Amino acid sequence: GVRVGVLALQGDVKEHLRMLADSGAAPSTVRRPSELAAVDALIVPGGESTTIDKLSRAFDLRDPIRDRIADGMPAFGTCAGMIMLADRIEGGIEGQQTFGGLDVTVRRNAFGRQVDSFETDLRVEGLDAPMHTVFIRAPWVERCGPDVEVLASVDRGEAGMHPVVVRQGVLLAASFHPEVGHDDRLHRMFVDLVRTAR
Ligand code: GLN
Repeated sequence: GVRVGVLALQGDVKEHLRMLADSGAAPSTVRRPSELAAVDALIVPGGESTTIDKLSRAFDLRDPIRDRIADGMPAFGTCAGMIMLADRIEGGIEGQQTFGGLDVTVRRNAFGRQVDSFETDLRVEGLDAPMHTVFIRAPWVERCGPDVEVLASVDRGEAGMHPVVVRQGVLLAASFHPEVGHDDRLHRMFVDLVRTAR
């Protein structure tokens, strides 16, 4: 099977490992450069992007991850992980950095205070039926470059439609937490992408 790592500095690691195993991949945790070198692809989980950013620098993982992504390693970012894969952030804290790779601008905590968290049935391009999704202090995609495919959007009424699942080549990102619950179709989509990339 393809070896898929889950960045395990902070956030929802266990749930991703379980869904990867269910999707037929060989999952492992990544906390150090040698563990990164041993995987074909990486999931960057939800959690807190400012913390993941700081810890990735403290653990000497930031530059190796940037280099692997630039080299074509497939990556899947969920919630805070979507922020980490974005080239640009709005609403980040002073000095906040990302791994980058996705030619998008994300807005952090985009859904605002009154709707910190919500669940919705979402139509995702490439999936046969809607997915039940959980958004927790989620980002959305504010702007996309020309090579970015939007696979799902959420309609915020007067605030407009905003992409929440995007793909650019072997990079996939979702605003919500696909590891929550039992629907592993997005993980399978990613594992398929990793297999095709190899
Ligand atoms: N608001 C968090 C951040 O900015 C993301 C929340 C999440 O991953 N559930 O990193």
